Amino acid sequence: MNRSVRIAVIWGGLGLLLWAWWAHQGPMLLSESFRAQGGPTVDDEALSLVPAPDIIEYEVQPGETLEQIAARFGVSVEALVGSNANTVDNLHSLEPGTILKIVKNGVLHAVKPGQTLTDIARTYGVPLAEIVHANRLEDREYIYPGEEFFIPGAVRSPTWTYLQMAGGRRSLFAWPVRGVLSSGFGTRIHPISGEPHFHQGIDIEVPEGTEVYAASAGKVLVAGRHSGYGLYIVLQHSHGYRTLYAHLAEIGVYRGQFVEGGQVIGRSGNTGNSTGPHLHFEILQYGRPLNPLALLPP
Ligand SMILES: [Zn+2]
Repeated sequence: MNRSVRIAVIWGGLGLLLWAWWAHQGPMLLSESFRAQGGPTVDDEALSLVPAPDIIEYEVQPGETLEQIAARFGVSVEALVGSNANTVDNLHSLEPGTILKIVKNGVLHAVKPGQTLTDIARTYGVPLAEIVHANRLEDREYIYPGEEFFIPGAVRSPTWTYLQMAGGRRSLFAWPVRGVLSSGFGTRIHPISGEPHFHQGIDIEVPEGTEVYAASAGKVLVAGRHSGYGLYIVLQHSHGYRTLYAHLAEIGVYRGQFVEGGQVIGRSGNTGNSTGPHLHFEILQYGRPLNPLALLPP
């Protein structure tokens, strides 16, 4: 055998060995935790050099605030809240004994039912490939609700925004924008025709281009244009709830996308049947419009 044939035989044999190993290990490994790898790939050597994020678990002491804990570990309050979205439900009061997870240079994200990695990438504005790489998800076919993934470099947390817009504590819905209420829910006289008209939502005056946040987590049902609503978005939430955001200048989501409560979904504007820059906001349950002021925090 000359040299090149010998090398080919050696590589062929190695390949066969790797295949045999994968065929044996693969199916079992796939069912293990998200750190498991499906089988050897060219990148395995390189990937093993990427350190998994260090997660510190910290027990809240009596009287401690989020600000104090964030400062102690050198992370932002927003990232701290983001990494503990299922634990922190009040920005102003922490239960002593609560276990907080602390990671640096990113946010821990717990997967929700119906949420894909693409959705998560869009939520944080972090490239999908970076999330896949940081969590070694290359060989994974499925992700599961409740699994926690590290979102490298994430600085914004929708949960933080959501809690801010909900007045500091968790509630069913948070405000999509903050501004002067220019029109309430119910029957009103149309400003131009003088006809009585049922106003299915509330109008909130905000400058054009204001970020509009999802009032709760859900799936995008509509992201499009309507003669009256202009550019508008409808989100489908659990328990038959829907929220609608109208007269937008910009839509930042697509149909079918899962969004977190507090996630930016678009920018406010003056499109459609609108007489000035504002957000028209509706909450419906099983198709019936409800008074948003009865469901939003003060
Ligand atoms: Zn309106």
